[in-house]
Amino acid sequence: MQQPLFDRIAIIGIGLIGSSLARVIRRDNPATHITACARRAETLDAVRRLDIADATTDDPAEAVADADLVVLATPLSAYAEVAARIAPALKPGAIVTDVGSVKEQAIADLRPALPPGVHLVPGHPVAGTEHSGPEAGFAEMFADRWCILTPLDDGDPEAVAKVTALWRLARMKVVTMPAEHHDKVLAVTSHLPHLIAYTIVGTATELGQDLQSEVIAFSAGGFRDFTRIAASDPVMWRDIFLANSDAVLELLQRFSEDLTALQRAIRRGDGETLHGWFTRTRAIRRSIIEAKQA
Ligand code: NAP
Repeated sequence: MQQPLFDRIAIIGIGLIGSSLARVIRRDNPATHITACARRAETLDAVRRLDIADATTDDPAEAVADADLVVLATPLSAYAEVAARIAPALKPGAIVTDVGSVKEQAIADLRPALPPGVHLVPGHPVAGTEHSGPEAGFAEMFADRWCILTPLDDGDPEAVAKVTALWRLARMKVVTMPAEHHDKVLAVTSHLPHLIAYTIVGTATELGQDLQSEVIAFSAGGFRDFTRIAASDPVMWRDIFLANSDAVLELLQRFSEDLTALQRAIRRGDGETLHGWFTRTRAIRRSIIEAKQA
């Protein structure tokens, strides 16, 4: 059998992303011992029922004792508390990585708490669905998607190589970039689109009762796609907007200016501007399909 990448892995937060990673390790490195940690008994019951971990606990410190790799997969707002709880129990030489959607804040919460000799490798597998919890996970979620690692300037290259190998096991394409750059890119590709979806669906629910039932009945006309995005986990997305506020607010300013330009084109009957704009956006969709990221 293939030598496992890690002997013992602790996954703190075993929801959609954590459980999907556990399934990958089960599938490809079955000799690796997995300890899963969550707060609620029902989450840990589900993990045992699904048989995606060898041990379960609600105590993060107990979970990380003896672990070679610790994967933080909780909402971002739990990072500082989890880091403080695991720090005294971490094995010297252990690698701590995470899957959080905002990297500068993740590093700010984790780095100061971790003891010397423990290697932090911040990461973000850019894959997921609008569902939550261990039942919703699946190993194939990561296949052919990008995983972004944002290594620290003084980080250990060997630890980065091992975390890279882990995500390659999940069949991800791995890239590294500075955390600040990651947060700007994701503000454009993920955070702003979610904010817009939350806004549109929220606006529709504010409409009068009659109109509301018609919105649901005729939702195929674009609205339905927004409702899928706006069904994403409220805790996770609250945390993302609070943690990446600078990049999101800057982008929102640009977005408002563009929206105003389109508003003006509609008011003036300026079909040329509208047609030119929509032609450019259609080309972007086609290039995403060509890159097999649709
Ligand atoms: P999820 O399905 O809601 O799972 C979160 C897990 O964290 C649950 O097991 C939960 O345990 C546990 N947890 C919550 N608060 C905790 C705390 N204070 N201490 C210990 N455990 C705690 O969430 P997810 O979608 O997997 O997201 C997890 C992380 O992945 C987030 O940081 C998010 O930014 C990132 N991410 C998400 C996606 C996505 O599409 N969903 C994609 C990429 C990255 P209980 O069930 O016991 O509460």
